[in-house]
Parts: sequence; C-alpha cells; structure tokens
Amino acid sequence: MSTVSDYFGSRVFDDRVMRTSLPTDIYASLRKTIDEGTELDISVANAVAEAMKDWAVSNGATYYTHWFQPLTGITAEKHDSFITPSPNGGIIMTFSGKELIKGEPDASSFPSGGLRTTFEARGYTAWDPTSYAFIKGKTLYIPTVFCSYRGHALDKKTPLLRSMEVLSKQALRILRLFGNDTAKRVVSTVGPEQEYFLITKEMYEARPDLRFTGRTLFGAQPPKGQELNDHYFGTIKPDVAAFMEDLNDELWKLGILAKTEHNEVAPAQHEFAPIYTTTNIATDHNQLTMEIMQKVAAKHGLVCLFHEKPFAGVNGSGKHNNWSISTNEGQNLLTPGDTPHQNEQFLLFLCAVIKAVDDYQDLLRISVATAGNDHRLGANEAPPAIVSIFLGNELSAMLEAIETDTPYQNIEKIQMKLGVNVLPKFNRDTTDRNRTSPFAFTGNKFEFRMLGSSNSISCANIMLNSAVAESLRIYADCLEKANDFEAALHETIKNTIHNHKRIIFNGNGYDDAWIQEATEKRGLLNYRTTVDCMPYLLNEKNVTMLTSLGIFTLDELKSRRDIILDNYCKSVVIEANTMVNMVHKYIAPAITRFTADLAKQASEKKVLFPELTCIYDKELRTKLSVLTDSFAEKTNDLENAIMTLSDTRDIIEQSVLVRDTVLPRMSKLRIPCDQAELLTAKSYWPFPTYSDILFSVK
Ligand code: ADP
Ligand code: MG
Repeated sequence: MSTVSDYFGSRVFDDRVMRTSLPTDIYASLRKTIDEGTELDISVANAVAEAMKDWAVSNGATYYTHWFQPLTGITAEKHDSFITPSPNGGIIMTFSGKELIKGEPDASSFPSGGLRTTFEARGYTAWDPTSYAFIKGKTLYIPTVFCSYRGHALDKKTPLLRSMEVLSKQALRILRLFGNDTAKRVVSTVGPEQEYFLITKEMYEARPDLRFTGRTLFGAQPPKGQELNDHYFGTIKPDVAAFMEDLNDELWKLGILAKTEHNEVAPAQHEFAPIYTTTNIATDHNQLTMEIMQKVAAKHGLVCLFHEKPFAGVNGSGKHNNWSISTNEGQNLLTPGDTPHQNEQFLLFLCAVIKAVDDYQDLLRISVATAGNDHRLGANEAPPAIVSIFLGNELSAMLEAIETDTPYQNIEKIQMKLGVNVLPKFNRDTTDRNRTSPFAFTGNKFEFRMLGSSNSISCANIMLNSAVAESLRIYADCLEKANDFEAALHETIKNTIHNHKRIIFNGNGYDDAWIQEATEKRGLLNYRTTVDCMPYLLNEKNVTMLTSLGIFTLDELKSRRDIILDNYCKSVVIEANTMVNMVHKYIAPAITRFTADLAKQASEKKVLFPELTCIYDKELRTKLSVLTDSFAEKTNDLENAIMTLSDTRDIIEQSVLVRDTVLPRMSKLRIPCDQAELLTAKSYWPFPTYSDILFSVK
C-alpha cells in the first residue's frame, strides 16, 4: 500500500522534479528566479518547458493550460493540446518556452471594469514561476498572471505579486538597519482556514435558492439548530469522514499541505486548514482547494457550500487568513525573540502592522467586501465590520509601558529596566485567544478573520502586504537617516504606539458597547456594507499609497471598485429574482392547494359531523390567507424595486438603491413566507426545510 509520502505532490512539477529533470545550470537559474525574483532567460524557459512537457506527458497529460484568476473571483483556464503535426502525417508532442511564458486567451468576456475596449479584447497570461505547475485530469496547469493588452492587471495575482515584492523590499531595508546582511528576500506567509457546509445533493437540487444563489432565501428556523453547540469539534459523521479522506488524498497529490479537518459551530459546517506557505502559493492552493472540495463532494453525492451565510439564524462561513512575514532564511519577523535586540526588531515589525491596520482600516474592510460577507460581519458569529487589533493583555501592557516610559512588569513580576537598549522580553505563549477580534495576534502571526468563505484570499493579502510595506517604508526612510539609530528606533516605536493605540482592543468584539466605543470615542470606521466601503477605495490616501508603491494604477483601482459594486448589484438582483420566482412558482401555489384541501376536508367533516366547529381548520385558513395577502403585496414591492434599478446607469447610485430598496424588501418578503412554512403541512411545502437540509448528511 502506498503511503502519503509516496504520493504527496505526485501531480506537481515541484522542486524535486525540477532538480532531477533539469540540467544543473538551468535548475540553478530557475531557482534564482523563484527565490530572488530575477528575470528568466528564454533559453532557460525553453529547457523548463521541454522538461515540464516530458514530465506531464509521462504522467498522462495531453493538454496544457495557462491557469489564471480573473476578477470574477474564481479561476479560469483555456486548454491547448501539446500536439504538433509532424511531416510524416503523425504528431509530436511539443511545448516551447514561449508557450510556457506567455498565452493569449481572448479576454473579452472577463470583467475589466472599463480597462479594455472590445477591439483590444486580447489579454495576456504570463507564467508565474513562483507557483508550481501541476496536473489535474489530463491537463498541465501553469499558474499565470493575466493582463490587458496595455499591461493593466486584469486579475488578482498580479497585484498580489507586486505587493509581495514591495513588502520584501521595504522589510529588507529594515533588516539591514538591524545588521542583517544575509537575508535576500522577505516573504509573507499565509495559512488560510476555510469554513464550509456539506449537504446532500438531493437537498441542494430541491432548493432553487441554493442552486441559483448559493444560499437559502427562505426557511423557517428549525426546532433544533446550533443552540447546544454539540456539533463543534464533535464526532465526524461517516459520510463526512469519507469526503474528508478523499479530499485530503486529492489535495496531497497536488502538493497542498492539507492538515486539519474538524466540525464547526453550525450543524453541517466544517473547517479545513492547510499548513502555511508563501502567500502566492497559499492563494493558488486555496482556490484549488475550493474547486477540489466541490468535485470530491459531488463524487460523494454531496454539495459543498461556500456562501458566507447559507442559512439565516445559523452561523455563516468565513476564512481566517493567518499571516506572517519571514526571511528567506526562515526567520519569522513576528516571532518575539530571546534577546532585547531581537525584541526591538520584533517590536518594530509589530508596530508596522499596528500602524498599517490603523491607517488602512478602510482598505482591509474593502478587501473582504462582497454581498455575501455583508450578512456575516457583525452578526455575532464573525467580527463586526469595524477593524481592530487584538494583542492580548501582556503585549498590550508592554506597549503601554513603552509609550509612557514606565517600567514594565511582566507576568512573573520581574521588573525590567526600560531603557533605549533594553526593550523587555516577554513570553509569547501567554498570548491568549480572542475569537471575536477581526485581527488577532496569535503568538507569531496575525489572524485576519473578516474574510468571507468564498472570497479569494488575494485581495486581503494585497492590502495587508501593501499597508505594512508602507509603514516599513516610512520607518526605513526615517531610521536610515538617523544619527542615533537606537534613539530613533525607540522614538519610532513609542510614537507608533501613541498614535495608533486606538486600533488595539482586547475586549469582546461582539459587544454593542464596543461598536459605540469604537465609533464614537475612538473614531474607528464602521462600514457595514460593501456599498458603504467601496467608494473609499479611491480615497486620496489610499490611491496615493497603492499607486506610489506600484501595487495598482489609478485605472486599475477604479475598475476594481466598479467590478465589485457591479458584482454586488448582480448577486443581490439574482437573489431578489429568485425569491420572486419561488413565491410565484412554488410557495403561492402550495398554500393555495393546502388551504383548498383544508376547506374541502372541513366541509366533508361538517357533513358527517354537523356539530363540529372545525375551528382549527378555519383559523389556519384565515392565518394562511392573511399571510398570502402579505407576501403578495411584498412580492409586488420587491418586483417594483428591481424594475426601478434598470433606470439607473451609475454603478454607485445603483448599488445604493440595491442596498436601500432591494435588500430590505427581500427581508420583508421572507417573514410571511417563513411563517407560512411553519403553518403548512410538510407534504405540501415545496422545499426541504432547514432541519431536512442541515441534518441531511449521515
Ligand atoms: P490555531 O490555534 O488558530 O488553529 P494553528 O497553529 O493551527 O493555529 O494555525 C492555524 C493556521 O495558521 C494554519 O494554517 C497554520 O499553518 C497557519 N500558520 C502557522 N504559522 C504561520 C505563519 N508563520 N505564517 C502564516 N500562517 C501560519
Ligand atoms: Mg484559527
């Protein structure tokens, strides 16, 4: 029997394969490109392409594709076969360096937010050698970036790579100041925890709302939901266990470090976590993981739901983006060190994050903005839409001591003298856990918890990397000029704490009192919806930072804002239309049938037993008629709101209308329908109920 280590990465053109299949000099130069970002020579590309093709063909591949991440949020691919006609009438399998490096899919149907006119529909994909190629099915997948004819980024990978580059450059400047002359590169690392629901295919097929929108738009609360918390970390059901086993196998073959699987809070909710890797690869792997999860689920007769809020009243799903930065030599820059000197460096990087998160709260909020995630943020299951940092009591006390120049008393009550040279040492294992914080320090990394389960993690990491790079740039500009480094360093740390401490909050983020304190006393931002936050992407400070660092051009930013708002409007309108459709096609006819049958049965009973009052039937019919009138009116209101949208051209105006007229009417329509569900006999109700769905997997 083969063991995991036998087949781990067996479908990946990874370092092991490259090392054995490439000539030594080619391997060395490719490695240099991967590790240090140096440019790749065409002769190297040709040799790599040849080796890649031979490896892929010997592993059963006949096609190759440039795999990319357009702004739709999912991945895209166009397949070409390796075949080339040979003079004797047969074929040979070929793949050149040029084909490896660059592809030209027709880009006209991908959202570009105005970055591309149709006559320039061509888009380019370019190989990203920092993420390994892999085989899925019979196709060799080559991870690529995707740009327009004029070089504008049309994808999520290009700006992510740019942000990693910038972060590396600025972090290295800081490391040099601390005397580190050997690190060549600094990379951000990410381990994303992925939540999802598993339901049976049968349940899924029976719900138009799940099929069209990924979430239930109707559904009365079940008698038993997640109240007892008996699902969380509970025993995994056999069908779920079989799914997870199969999933891990598939992911391991693709070199994805699948590590942890457990049940989550809600019934039918689970979590998956890989071991962290560089942000770029983590992003590719997360996209791939979501895709494979859906495929494996289908094989098991299941459907995997990634919507942020598939069921009202039941916890939704998010993604926890565990993020840190380390050198190519393996030093994690967010690990508190053993010596005061190491701790100074740690504190400076920590301050860079604190400053970044405070200065760019809006960008972090924007980076997780989708219609689906709006249902989750602030709904007592995920952090509020207010960005704050949890540091834990010990670290916070230490920062306070630095700010006020008072001696710091650590947990063991050892008084440390706080001088310029001696920043206190502390024990990282005491950082405790606060599940309610959107951005928590967890010992040697930060956990950004606002991401929705269906989001690509790239946007969050682009903003995080860029904002931290900007803090580091400002620090480096100042410290490089300082005559007395130690004094300037101390001053920088102290000032950062003083100016940005409002962003640190160790209390309960779900508490209403926090919302008030955050917004009224501390002046923190609270952009509750996608529509509230998106316009701020083009705020001057944000544009200045992102363009000066070279992460986005102004045009790219504008296009992204418009695409996100457009996507928001489209998703909500699809939901609204689905609701209207479900009322007309299913709910209203079901109630009509049920009430008619009730009336018929009552009159039959009356004939047999004239003394009966039939009060239950009568009252039920009255209640259902009242509810029917109510949802009829509310369906009309919703239809009118949808119609009004078509008169509005401007995307911002349109999104405001969607938020203020369509969404509230959807909530209003849901109420009488859910009440009707509770009163209608099960055999008449056209859809599986929440209980049916949530407990469907065995
Ligand atoms: P938790 O206690 O939150 O479960 P874990 O140690 O299991 O913490 O880590 C959760 C996720 O964080 C995993 O995906 C893990 O690989 C990732 N992680 C750990 N260290 C780092 C790091 N230095 N950078 C990024 N992610 C990390
Ligand atoms: Mg976690």
